[in-house]
Amino acid sequence: MRKLSEVLRDWEAVIGLEVHTELTTLETKMFCGCRISHDDEPNANVCPVCLGLPGALPVPNERAIESIVMAGLATNCEVMRRSMFYRKHYFYPDMAKNFQTTQGPVAFVMHGHLDLEVPADRADERPTWASVAADGATPIERAADGSYVAPIRILRIHMEEDAAKMVHVGGAEGRIGGATESLIDYNRCGTPLIELVTEPDLRTPEEARLFMEKLRETFLALGISDCSLEHGSMRCDGNVSLRRRGESSLGTKSELKNLNSFKSLHDALAYEICRQAEVLEAGGVVLQETRHWEPSRRRTVVMRVKETADDYRFFPDPDLAPFDLTDEFVERCRARMPELPDAKRERFASQWGLTRRDAGRLAGDPDLARLFEGAAAQLRPQEVPTLANVLINLAPSFGALTMLQLVSITELLFRDALTFAQAREVLGIVNGTDQMPIVVAGDRGLLQSTDTDALGAIVDEVLARCTDQARQYRDGNRKVLGFLVGQCMRASEGAGNPKLFNQLLVERLG
Ligand code: ADP
Ligand code: MG
Ligand code: ZN
Repeated sequence: MRKLSEVLRDWEAVIGLEVHTELTTLETKMFCGCRISHDDEPNANVCPVCLGLPGALPVPNERAIESIVMAGLATNCEVMRRSMFYRKHYFYPDMAKNFQTTQGPVAFVMHGHLDLEVPADRADERPTWASVAADGATPIERAADGSYVAPIRILRIHMEEDAAKMVHVGGAEGRIGGATESLIDYNRCGTPLIELVTEPDLRTPEEARLFMEKLRETFLALGISDCSLEHGSMRCDGNVSLRRRGESSLGTKSELKNLNSFKSLHDALAYEICRQAEVLEAGGVVLQETRHWEPSRRRTVVMRVKETADDYRFFPDPDLAPFDLTDEFVERCRARMPELPDAKRERFASQWGLTRRDAGRLAGDPDLARLFEGAAAQLRPQEVPTLANVLINLAPSFGALTMLQLVSITELLFRDALTFAQAREVLGIVNGTDQMPIVVAGDRGLLQSTDTDALGAIVDEVLARCTDQARQYRDGNRKVLGFLVGQCMRASEGAGNPKLFNQLLVERLG
């Protein structure tokens, strides 16, 4: 198969995502009062409604509807004032009612968009000729460094419910084929799910990955889900087709499943684009099929071929009245909206003088952002970029540092009392305890002395010893300064601050 970069010179990839997000932060299920919990005993959280017993009547969860409206507001969607729940019929034991309650042609929120900022180092998959956004009107302008913004339209976000979890025992890889027993846990059944469907506006696997990252950051900020790709509370299907450069009609797509990490999402799409190009270039046709990504073998394999439209016998659910959202309800949701990651990033960058990249890293994770703001409030403004550096480059390897420890290590680094390597050593010791970095660093003799008198005495001693080098420096050989600093460091047994030594030497030699 040809490489992605070569394929994308001749073909345009057209990608649309369908993203399911479980509203894990809610207390109860979508249509009953059962608890939402992943750790309880199997089938502990069930009732006649989520087990689909005859005569049981559903009652919609208002908090879930608040969550989907907030998701819509955060993605610039229109809130539809009237929508309905539908029944989507199918027969499988993971849904005891034999239908899934979902939404019909009108979803709670529709017709939104997200502006996808593609940074320079992730911008090269999109060929330069693909300079028009998918709506055919908006030009995609590249900045001098190659970065660009692609507007991605969102068709809709609708509400539905999750099915039960099935475990197949005795077969290979937990698949049903060859299994001797299948177990069902209805705890997950009826968990509210929101499904976001994009228009086919994405053009590269990297854009798909960025879109998913941005959506995850947005939903995390809203607090509507724990958004774990790994544990499946956020799941994404990738739809992809190819068309010849310059062509405007859509090609036949395949739909990719099992994309349970950002890497899988990217790599599966990249593989599939190359596979489709090979099929088309050999004169074949792409079949409309659902394919499974196998991460270990780095390929997609056919799960099922779509031959006829599925007959789900969609119809409005007679047990659930049409839903009218009032202005008051929508305004209440709007009032609950937190600051979103983009706004937070801009604020961090301008308020604290961080790079947009660093600001974005901190703003994208609500816990990290909270820690950052809490610690920043205890520091002087000029120390805050050092704090950002600590949070981005040091803290992630530890994981159990307290805000006070972060403040202390930042202060030490800011005044050059510790090197980065020493800070790492200190954090390794205090991680998970309530010891303070300044105390530990002092005890271990790591603190670099910034006492100018004491260091000055060392400098004088070194200059008295190294008269040759001192003369060379005065004669214009600036390179010997490094040697002299090294001598001072050695004389202080590593406890002196090299920047200060440097400064004191220059003063005395000048
Ligand atoms: P299906 O009926 O197979 O689920 P939909 O029309 O509902 O297909 O679209 C599902 C997703 O696939 C959407 O995200 C949409 O943008 C995307 N999509 C639709 N047609 C194409 C295509 N030809 N190529 C790539 N993506 C597509
Ligand atoms: Mg679909
Ligand atoms: Zn229930």
